[in-house]
Amino acid sequence: MNLQTSIKEINKITAQVAPKFKKLGVSDVEDLLFYFPFRYEDYSNLLKIDEIEPGILLTIKGKIELLESRRSFRKRMILVEAVVADETDKIKIVWFNQRYIQRTLAIGDEIYLSGKAILSDSGLEFHNPTFEKVNKYDKFTTHTARIVPIYSSTERLTQRQIRFTVKRSLSCINFIQEWLPQNVLKDNNLMPLRQAVHQIHFPINLDELEKARFRLKFNEIFLLQARARLIKQELLHLNADKIVFKEKETRKFVNALPFKLTQSQKKSAWEIIKDLGKSKPMNRLLEGDVGSGKTIAVGVAMLNALLNKKQVAYMAPTELLSSQQFSSFCKIFEKYDFTIGLLTRTETKIDTEVVKKKDLIKEISEGNVDLIIGTHALIQDKVSFKDLNLIVIDEQHRFGIAQRKELQDKARNQEDKKDFSPHFLSMTATPIPRSLALTVYGDLDLSVIDEMPKDRKKIETKVVEPHERKGAYEFINSEIQKGRQAFVVCPLIDPSDKLGAKAVKDVFEKLDKKVFKDLRIEILHGKIKGAEKEKIMKEFVENKIKILVSTSVIEVGIDIPNATVMMIESSERFGLAQLHQLRGRVGRSEHQSYCFLFTESDTEATLKRMQALVQSSNGFELAERDLEFRGPGEVYGIRQSGFYDSLKIAKLTDWPVIKVVQTEIEKMFKIDPDLVNYPEIKEKIKDFERGVHLE
Ligand code: ADP
Ligand code: MG
Repeated sequence: MNLQTSIKEINKITAQVAPKFKKLGVSDVEDLLFYFPFRYEDYSNLLKIDEIEPGILLTIKGKIELLESRRSFRKRMILVEAVVADETDKIKIVWFNQRYIQRTLAIGDEIYLSGKAILSDSGLEFHNPTFEKVNKYDKFTTHTARIVPIYSSTERLTQRQIRFTVKRSLSCINFIQEWLPQNVLKDNNLMPLRQAVHQIHFPINLDELEKARFRLKFNEIFLLQARARLIKQELLHLNADKIVFKEKETRKFVNALPFKLTQSQKKSAWEIIKDLGKSKPMNRLLEGDVGSGKTIAVGVAMLNALLNKKQVAYMAPTELLSSQQFSSFCKIFEKYDFTIGLLTRTETKIDTEVVKKKDLIKEISEGNVDLIIGTHALIQDKVSFKDLNLIVIDEQHRFGIAQRKELQDKARNQEDKKDFSPHFLSMTATPIPRSLALTVYGDLDLSVIDEMPKDRKKIETKVVEPHERKGAYEFINSEIQKGRQAFVVCPLIDPSDKLGAKAVKDVFEKLDKKVFKDLRIEILHGKIKGAEKEKIMKEFVENKIKILVSTSVIEVGIDIPNATVMMIESSERFGLAQLHQLRGRVGRSEHQSYCFLFTESDTEATLKRMQALVQSSNGFELAERDLEFRGPGEVYGIRQSGFYDSLKIAKLTDWPVIKVVQTEIEKMFKIDPDLVNYPEIKEKIKDFERGVHLE
């Protein structure tokens, strides 16, 4: 038996349950050894029967003196009853509905029993204790008399089955190879890997368990950070085309804008332009709150690439957003003779002209389109570029890592371009808390736009209780009478489009038929297709539609300056960062704007979260609060980063581990930036990536 031995082959018993293990993602011994318990039951308190106190978790060891089963007629249950004795006393045991116990145990057996005793009318009793026969040849108990592992499991695979199988697998533990360097282990007082794997399943005490946990968390965080550093390093071996800064043109462009750029916008644009001027590819993330003006900041940099006669691709997550950004850029660059293309599933344009998809793709490949804006359609097989040098990804958290990489690879595969990489810029309006950024996005340089354009008014945010609903509707009506517009957003109650659309439909019906009978209301959700969607958005922009009822499809980037009310149904179902994004759809003009949070939940947790939104209009702050309230998995954008689910034991908030790892990584990369002396670590990183399906 070794690490690659299939669960099926361990023995007859495991052969039967192998398919169930498979469902847990466990096929071989190695998988199993790295299938960590999610909690433990501490049964290590071994007492004599006369020392038992009710309500305390403990284990006793004794001999079965009596064992019988009977049917309890009142409750229609099978009761297995036993009396167990040690040299100090006896105690009565009752198992409910576990008939098999009578077949498993016999009078005279010596057993361990773990659980809590209760005080009944007839004295102390054990109900449903965990049992285990004493094995003279194996002092190492599995289910009792120790700290016992509890695994997450599908219903039909019992804890006993998992523990039994894990215990069998422990004999292979010496095949596990240590991959952290000795000095790292020593300097950080880390438990050796084999020992850690053993202790994580069957710890001898809580101290050792803690050390094992620390070591295994260290592994995961270390791989995450080392991977990021290596990617950064690899880019240094690739070459990008230098994009020369056109100072005079840039100045002219900026001065012609209808507004003054904020300090933050200037700083970010400058950071990007400086990167573009290097012969090494940029890999930068631009973070900035909704409405902070990322588009134009990036536009300034794009201008420079275009003036250098380089192709630029701009990828946005939705057709709506692509289409809107296409219009924005056509306007922004209207004084220049750049050729701008739009490529989505339903729309293909060159400048103002609608063209055939086939023709557009041809023009792109021949280098006749300078700036290509589009959705995922950009990474289709058929699309190829001529001289792509800058890739911009809007709302990058909405794309998978694979999709981003695909676009990058496309650019790399251009003719005669070995060792070439385009410059790469991502944008996001969902700020990753700084504390997490290093671990999750350690491979990226960060630019942050952390101020809003001066003319923005604070959006008045209010939590609306059910009895205030009518008043809110009246308010919306009065805003519309003043010429403004409103959004009503409903959550996708279920990730399936069907359910989400239905929820939206219900609200729409009510508003359309009852509440706002005289106003033009439309509905928008993922099931409404391109042309129809386009028409609705256009009419909303033109203020022909007064209220738009939608799912969170409108969350990303769209711009309707005349809308002043954002009303959110069942707001507790959204994360704070997402609510903040939705709120950012209004307040994009000189008019005072409002956000109404409707909620049916009045739990303290909900109210606290909603209050945070009322108090803060800062996206970074809200992301930190999300982290605090709901943990890293709920911070918008983290799950999408691809790594979250691959962390089996570490959390992105394990600060002590993160800190120690960071120091180690710094030391290691300073001496050996390509990790040439650490092939084992590189191999581990590859394994890790495979596990995350990055490749
Ligand atoms: P986001 O960062 O959410 O992508 P946008 O780039 O869409 O924000 O900008 C939101 C709006 O603010 C746009 O209409 C844009 O023209 C405007 N805007 C951008 N920068 C400024 C500025 N410095 N002053 C005033 N308005 C600005
Ligand atoms: Mg935007």
